[in-house]
Amino acid sequence: IANKITNKKLLQTQAFIDGQWCEANSGQRFTVSNPANGAPLAEVSDLGTDEVLQAISAAERAWPNWRAHTGKERGAILRRWFELILAAKEDLAILMTAEQGKPLNEARGEVLYGASFVEWFAEEAKRLYGDIIPAHGRDKRLMVLKQPIGVAAAITPWNFPIAMITRKVAPALAAGCPVVIKPSELTPLSALALAKLAQEAGFPDGVFNVVTSTNAPEVGRILCADSRVRKLSFTGSTPVGKLLAQQCAANVKKVSLELGGNAPFIVFDDADLDAAVVGAMVSKFRNAGQTCVCTNRIFVQENVYEAFAEKFRVAVEALKTGNGADEGVEIGPLIDERALAKVESLVADALENGATLLTGGKRFSAVSNGYQPTVLSNVNNQMRIAQEEIFGPVATLIPFQSESEVIAMANDTPSGLAAYFYARDIGRVWRVSEALEYGMVGVNEGIISTEVAPFGGIKESGLGREGSKYGIDDYVELKYICLGLG
Ligand code: ADP
Repeated sequence: IANKITNKKLLQTQAFIDGQWCEANSGQRFTVSNPANGAPLAEVSDLGTDEVLQAISAAERAWPNWRAHTGKERGAILRRWFELILAAKEDLAILMTAEQGKPLNEARGEVLYGASFVEWFAEEAKRLYGDIIPAHGRDKRLMVLKQPIGVAAAITPWNFPIAMITRKVAPALAAGCPVVIKPSELTPLSALALAKLAQEAGFPDGVFNVVTSTNAPEVGRILCADSRVRKLSFTGSTPVGKLLAQQCAANVKKVSLELGGNAPFIVFDDADLDAAVVGAMVSKFRNAGQTCVCTNRIFVQENVYEAFAEKFRVAVEALKTGNGADEGVEIGPLIDERALAKVESLVADALENGATLLTGGKRFSAVSNGYQPTVLSNVNNQMRIAQEEIFGPVATLIPFQSESEVIAMANDTPSGLAAYFYARDIGRVWRVSEALEYGMVGVNEGIISTEVAPFGGIKESGLGREGSKYGIDDYVELKYICLGLG
């Protein structure tokens, strides 16, 4: 991989603690490999408990100075980090595709998307306004300050190796919180490249730390149990999120969680069907279906069901599969064998229970872990494939008759992250937007993520919001001051 990138310094294999690159005390390393072919890419430091505690100590020591910086000073460093990320876009994309598998064009898009949070919060750092409240007595003055919550830990997944980090740490850093990042053991190289750029941007020692480890449960336990860590932000699977929330309850640590989704995508009979196909394609097949806002269930009104299904099948069959590193490939490998086995088992279960296969349904052999873009018809909302997060390139079509029926089905899940629907009737657009129990709704749009809008879920999909003017709130505490004039 080192031969493919122009700036070799972006390939870092040691953890980053207190401004230093460091090896595990045990000397242990783990192998990062390419999901497209299993080829080893690098050996990365596999930290133990002591080094994670060192990172927390470094962040704790760095806090007073970092919070004392003005917002403008913190913003200037974030801005430099943003510019360095943009300048390194191509190398970062190559590294990301190598360790994660997504098509190179999507990787480039993620670098820009990830960088956009750094830019946004570089600007927001200056705007952490407090408040003056009209007092309840003539001799008092009331104020509200927003203060940084303290050391923030971020545990991040492999599906967006850069953006899931910047979406958490940019607001934390802007607010004045030092960070300890535990990236996915499957995609640490992107995280370490970000750390290299953060080092160049000039964050003070201890403000930006990355701990790499294959022992995620142990690192998670330490980050939750240590009361010097005041905030934990996690993106990943719902069971792990629940476990972390439980662990954080012991010391009432503040948590933000961005967990699994089960996005409905509803096509009403007044929709522009061609536009709906385009929206369904991007929201379903981006990152080979491995995003938490990916469409999981496509509900189509009965009188347009056949027409939609046919147009959609044709579009799906045109997708180009292969190694994400090859230009033009749209569907790369799944992250690993386990992900592939899960997709296969969900498809088998659906077929056994009466779904029909319109296209796909098999592995493709150009890469390891490749699964063909697949469309299943006549799925029902009770099947496992409709109740679990597929996280793969499989689309399920479910017919429905009425608006109230489809809203009930769409909401019949513990998840509540993203939902999409296509319709033209303005009354329906309002009614359905309000009735969907989801944190984010795309109306006649299949891609809705942007740094300027609040990203997050309700119900079991999470707590808190990322991005937008709201995103920094997860990293500040309100302090009320009552000043007596007497
Ligand atoms: P995914 O299915 O996306 O891999 P996970 O929830 O397993 O989701 O992983 C997301 C992140 O959580 C990764 O960084 C992973 O290492 C970490 N993780 C997994 N299990 C635990 C755990 N028990 N405690 C803390 N972190 C964990």
